Amino acid sequence: MIGRLLGALLAALLAPAGASRAAAGLLDACWTPDELRDGQGRGALPHAAASPDAVVAPLPPLPARLQGSIRAVHPAGDEKVIALTFDLCEGARGVSGYDAPLVAYLREQGVRATFFAGGKWLRSHPEPALQLMADPRFEIGSHSWSHKDFDGLPAAARDDEIAKAQTEYARLRAELAGRACAVATGPAALAAIPPQPALFRFPYGRCDRAALDALAAAGLPAIQWSIVTGDPAKGQGAAAIARAILDRTRPGAIVVMHANGRGWHTAEALRTAIPELRRRGYRFVTVSELLALGEPVTADRCYE
Ligand SMILES: [Zn+2]
Repeated sequence: MIGRLLGALLAALLAPAGASRAAAGLLDACWTPDELRDGQGRGALPHAAASPDAVVAPLPPLPARLQGSIRAVHPAGDEKVIALTFDLCEGARGVSGYDAPLVAYLREQGVRATFFAGGKWLRSHPEPALQLMADPRFEIGSHSWSHKDFDGLPAAARDDEIAKAQTEYARLRAELAGRACAVATGPAALAAIPPQPALFRFPYGRCDRAALDALAAAGLPAIQWSIVTGDPAKGQGAAAIARAILDRTRPGAIVVMHANGRGWHTAEALRTAIPELRRRGYRFVTVSELLALGEPVTADRCYE
């Protein structure tokens, strides 16, 4: 405990200026390398104690360029950028998992990535959720509360699925802000963490027109993909996943994968795909960074 506090204080003293460097300080101050590698930490958090900080302000409605379902981006100058995305799905029944080795590999490689986390997944995996949140390499988008099919979902249930995930994220962020390690690291590190998710991915990639309109009004871009890896299928081996990525890579591509333990060979596939993409000159960016680098490729309907 004393070692942890001393480490946090030292990290705070040594933290260089700049929000992203400060946030790296937060990650190191709050978890040991072993805890990060395993997705472990202090354990379960009290769920009932929702802080007033967890009340989320509405986001401004989406500008026209971000409306519809976004499948890729045309980056300016055809810059070789690619967004790896990992869904953290969890349905109303049961608890899914967390692919800690996959995330450890991304960290080791310094690969930036986006995680679309279900609100219910955040609640059942608080420690990994906070680690992803505190890591300046990563961005967290919403994957709704409990992974319902948004094609034909009644308006009240739909809006509830969207809002509950935003609130759960904000509640966890407030929990992180209250930890001694975060207090010792200072406010700059927390300021680098968005107050709520600013991206959304539909469960099963399914939606209807009303759901797209609801997201536009809620200020959340609907992020789909240009490369599907098929990684939730147990028979989809690492070589096939890597080939799916490498065969279809273009500047501005968005790749969909899973990090909830249901991407059976995903981590192994990345050990082929990531070095090969780098060899081809690609740089890994988050989805928000990708959207800022060019024009989104949108459609007025979802894939399925
Ligand atoms: Zn999902």
